[in-house]
Amino acid sequence: MKKWLRQLELEKNRCQSCGMPLKFDPQGGGTESDGSHSSLYCSYCYAEGAFKEPQLTLEAMQQRVRQLLRERQMPWYVRAYMAHRIPTLKRWRGCKR
Ligand SMILES: [Zn+2]
Repeated sequence: MKKWLRQLELEKNRCQSCGMPLKFDPQGGGTESDGSHSSLYCSYCYAEGAFKEPQLTLEAMQQRVRQLLRERQMPWYVRAYMAHRIPTLKRWRGCKR
């Protein structure tokens, strides 16, 4: 358990919307409106300078991440940890819950 959590902590450059490490993004990150790569968001969340789903709620994102991690057979504590971290990401900070 500690090993996993340490690995998660060490991961920098996470998508600030879904928490996925950007190095896992096959596109290497989302794109800005000028076509450059975003250093904040992954290609699943962000394209051409805007969120793909601007209406997405924090709860919906947490559900989605839990589901994705379950499909990847991540242990429960990784799922709990990731869902817990999502509200601390830039996109969701200050969101009312
Ligand atoms: Zn993302």
